[in-house]
Amino acid sequence: MIKGRCPTCSKAFEIDRIDDLPSFPFCSDRCRLVDLGRWIDEAHVIPGPPVELDEEDAEGPARRSEMNGRHQDD
Ligand SMILES: [Zn+2]
Repeated sequence: MIKGRCPTCSKAFEIDRIDDLPSFPFCSDRCRLVDLGRWIDEAHVIPGPPVELDEEDAEGPARRSEMNGRHQDD
């Protein structure tokens, strides 16, 4: 007998063998996918280096002032 607790919904479960619960250590496939989605969400936030964001920010105002300059030349 294996006693476990689902990391997603905290539901306690008892199984005879791990084979009885393909989604182990989660109580169901749904909870397994929820945890997977949560993990992907976190991974999605981390990779973007802040340097790239700074470049995008610097490019915006620069283009805007360039357009203003052309407008003044006309
Ligand atoms: Zn669960």
